[in-house]
Amino acid sequence: MRENVCDLESLTKTSVIRALAERHGFSFSKRLGQNFLINPDIVKKIAESGVGTLGEGVKAGVLEIGPGIGTLTRELAQRADKVAAVEIDGRLISVLEDTLSDFDNTAVINGDIMKLDLEKLIREHFGGLEAVVCANLPYYITSPVMMKLLESRLPIKAITAMVQKEAGIRLCAPLGTREAGAVTVAVRYFSEPKMLFNVSRGNFMPPPNVDSCVIRLDLRDSPPLSGEEEKLFFKISRGAFSQRRKTLANSLSAALDLDKRLVTAALNDAGLPESIRPENLLMKDFIKLTEIFKNV
Ligand code: SAM
Repeated sequence: MRENVCDLESLTKTSVIRALAERHGFSFSKRLGQNFLINPDIVKKIAESGVGTLGEGVKAGVLEIGPGIGTLTRELAQRADKVAAVEIDGRLISVLEDTLSDFDNTAVINGDIMKLDLEKLIREHFGGLEAVVCANLPYYITSPVMMKLLESRLPIKAITAMVQKEAGIRLCAPLGTREAGAVTVAVRYFSEPKMLFNVSRGNFMPPPNVDSCVIRLDLRDSPPLSGEEEKLFFKISRGAFSQRRKTLANSLSAALDLDKRLVTAALNDAGLPESIRPENLLMKDFIKLTEIFKNV
């Protein structure tokens, strides 16, 4: 390292970030969602929510998505036994070599989180550790990343993530409310979500056009269904929300390729009016519908 730019106070200064970028030939990419945190208190708070809450004595392995220049990575590395950080932008790898050089428990992987085999990555990096995910997520892939992390049934305890505020509201919405969508059902199926705190746009460089929030999903040891039933559950929940303005009977008839009369009868069996909207359904309704449609 050429100069001491690496403590949290320095790495969250815009002048230091600019100097680092210049030295490494880096310029911000909007396409890759590169908005770096410049408030040290928020960086600490995210690391604390992601790792600190695991409890005394727990040996933690943290998968970080998008370390950027390593600001959050360093805070995670101070609290966890190991951090594996996946960064897609090859230009940031030499920056990270600089900013993480005083840690021996960090590994930087240059790759696309959507394409990597995460089960293998967790096995290789976190043997014997409790694995968690902690990230200031690039907003353009929030839902696909969340779905990949959840659906792959990875051996992880929790996901703590900064996301766009609207996305956070949707991800954490209770079922049966207007904010709920197909992704909400998936989140509730696999985890217990919690909205932790809001972060306004001024805490980033460059500032994004929207505000953010930090959420935490505590993964269930065993989700309610498995195998073919689980597949049907997701076909039903995605189908239900696929055309929000249609009634549930119409959307499900299209999604399941079933005659509307059969669907209406199934809804009656489940004790649901055929005009009910998907956002009014609760987890128990989706599970009941799965049980009924399994035999249709
Ligand atoms: N962790 C840093 C912070 O909090 O300041 C940077 C967060 S920035 C919002 C998102 C980071 O994700 C960027 O460094 C970006 O290059 C990276 N990124 C974008 N798409 C990615 C992908 N598909 N896989 C891995 N990293 C990605």
